[in-house]
Amino acid sequence: MKSKIKELVRKNIQALAPYSSARDEYSGKEGICLDANENPFGIYNRYPDPYQPALKAKLAQLKNTSPTQIFIGNGSDEAIDLAFRIFCEPGQDKALTFVPTYGMYEVSANINDVELIKLPLNEEFQIDRNSLQSYFSDENLKLIFICSPNNPTGNLLRTEDIEFILDNFNGMVIIDEAYIDFCDQASFIEKIERYPNLIVIQTLSKAWGLAGIRLGIGYMDEEVLSYYNRVKAPYNISTVNQQTALDALSNEADYQQKIKDILDEKEQLILNLSGLKGIRKIYPSDANFLLVEVDQADELYEKLINRKIIVRNRNSVIKNCVRISVGTPEENEQLLNALKEFSND
Ligand SMILES: *Cc1c(COP(=O)(O)O)cnc(C)c1O
Repeated sequence: MKSKIKELVRKNIQALAPYSSARDEYSGKEGICLDANENPFGIYNRYPDPYQPALKAKLAQLKNTSPTQIFIGNGSDEAIDLAFRIFCEPGQDKALTFVPTYGMYEVSANINDVELIKLPLNEEFQIDRNSLQSYFSDENLKLIFICSPNNPTGNLLRTEDIEFILDNFNGMVIIDEAYIDFCDQASFIEKIERYPNLIVIQTLSKAWGLAGIRLGIGYMDEEVLSYYNRVKAPYNISTVNQQTALDALSNEADYQQKIKDILDEKEQLILNLSGLKGIRKIYPSDANFLLVEVDQADELYEKLINRKIIVRNRNSVIKNCVRISVGTPEENEQLLNALKEFSND
């Protein structure tokens, strides 16, 4: 498999010589730096390290992997977008995903002029293997995106089905684990040794509570990483964000506590919602949000907006469903109070 990675990469990217920054040519910490036209005065006057070594060392330790298998991006969005730019010839190659799912795969596909094949998940929001077979032989299909736990359905996709894809598809498989911290499922990171065509995407935006700093992570084979490093903007993660991320990652107890609190609140929310009139179904959730089927999603959405409570209306994607993020105890209580009042109307 390993040697096949190169064949998957666009020709112009294979040939690309990466921009060699001043910090690439001399990465030592000591010395008088007169090489990058920086301002000699100030606190943030220096360009950040292009490869974020301290942050990668910390992530490698937390995830039991190697810094040489880690890409850090300006949000997961960057890791997703770079996959298209590295592997997909615009106007020619294709990607595939299972819907309903996260909208960024389609946005990124469109921006890069790549056709996105959207296979519907089955009734249980799981992958239908039979629908897949014919696509494995399509030479132009370069990427398969799998979101697990999936957004907006909230469930994990079955490991056997994901492995079936990894065993049968010769292109790149991208597993988006944005919500993995909220469930007990092991990450696919540990399978990268076995499947060099696997990219696992995680983020600091959800369980780590750092959506504001935009920091996403791609775990991948070293050869794949070499292409990511060539294509990314040289200084894609600011000094401030690297430091903020490092501080948060060094406080694992706080992270664990937040997850526990959110999961406790989720249980409460499920209990309290299930008694209410107008709530038809609460889908099982492996994430920090609930997909809820209601009598009239559009109407409910508007009524909540009038109370300044904003949920995600997914009616256009899954009939009469809204997606509700688990908030603080106070926020959840306000939501429940509003819903109770509506059900008395
Ligand atoms: C929220 C979310 C992300 C996070 O994206 P960032 O760009 O890292 O903030 C990624 N994937 C899915 C499926 C998400 O729901």
